[in-house]
Amino acid sequence: MLGRTPLAAAIRALRSELAGGPRADLGREVRELSELLAERELRRFAVHRDPAEQELLAALPDAAALVGKDGSVRVCNAAFDTLAPSGRAAGRTPLEILRSPELSEAVRRALEGTARRLDLELARRAFLVHLAPLLRGEVLLMLRDVTETKRADATRRDFVANASHELRTPVAAIRAAAETLLGGAVDDPAASRRFVEIVARHAERLSRLTQDLLDLSRLESRQWRFALEPVEAAPVARQAVELASAAAREKGLALVSEVADGLRVRADPRALEQVLVNLVENAVKYTAGGGVTLRASVDGDAAILSVVDTGPGIERHHLPRLFERFYRADAGRSREQGGTGLGLAIVKHLAVGMGGDVGVESGAEGSRFWVRLPVA
Ligand code: ADP
Repeated sequence: MLGRTPLAAAIRALRSELAGGPRADLGREVRELSELLAERELRRFAVHRDPAEQELLAALPDAAALVGKDGSVRVCNAAFDTLAPSGRAAGRTPLEILRSPELSEAVRRALEGTARRLDLELARRAFLVHLAPLLRGEVLLMLRDVTETKRADATRRDFVANASHELRTPVAAIRAAAETLLGGAVDDPAASRRFVEIVARHAERLSRLTQDLLDLSRLESRQWRFALEPVEAAPVARQAVELASAAAREKGLALVSEVADGLRVRADPRALEQVLVNLVENAVKYTAGGGVTLRASVDGDAAILSVVDTGPGIERHHLPRLFERFYRADAGRSREQGGTGLGLAIVKHLAVGMGGDVGVESGAEGSRFWVRLPVA
């Protein structure tokens, strides 16, 4: 008789549907039963839903959930829901949602009354987890995504380590030269000149480094105020050429600006000059023969100022990281030329700060560094 009940018929039909058969017709009674069961499941969570509690959870900046005495999430905010693979955390245990045995154990201990804070890595993101036992026997579970903060901390640590390393070399050289002078070399005119020259060269390097570090720090902390105004590009380009002309002459390089009069860009005059000076100085520094040319072109409402050199070019794999601070394609050559490794990082900050952008293309015949700025 059992086989004849609507329920048994529905079960058989469903089994056959799932095995690849036609769509099962469940009949009215079974459909109603199924709807009621779903409704009961929904209410299981809804019964406990207190609007004040939900408002509070929604106001928290972190992913937050209340874990009930049975160890499953009773109610949570939207940020917590996004952590669940199904997008719905209520009714599931933290282990099912986050798949971390360590967290699951901490939740269990918190349900027994022990507050905990732990660092957790989930799906390659770093979380700071807080577990607070509440008076009514539940636990407030909060997950703060600290991936970006951790990344920023690591970057800052790297930066300090790099800067200290860069400062150590000239300081050590100055100290050694001064000690040699004091140890007697000062009485030998030829030797003393040599050591004083060492002091002067490394003091110059220190001064460049500290200036670059200060500029970069002001740019990164947004203390650098950009005064944007229409600026004639040609005189600024000529000024950059002028400043590097002695170094270019010494190396027998042709250094010219082909930027025509009349092109006006929206820029901060001082920042634009520093951008072009840095790019031209680099081009002269790294080019052994041939020349360096400044050019301008217009692309829609943007002007592109380029510094083109006939230097050795830069290997492709360096290009994406070239504008990072302290990144060098050829560290030995950069140091030998008195480079700080910060010039292009400053150029990028300045260009972006003026609402523009920078880039580089490089090949066997040389490099082209460009800066794009709005036409004024
Ligand atoms: P640096 O003080 O070392 O020159 P920059 O930030 O100005 O630092 O430049 C970063 C690196 O990019 C340099 O060390 C050098 O390897 C490379 N580079 C920059 N400009 C040129 C160029 N015109 N030709 C070849 N390499 C360059």
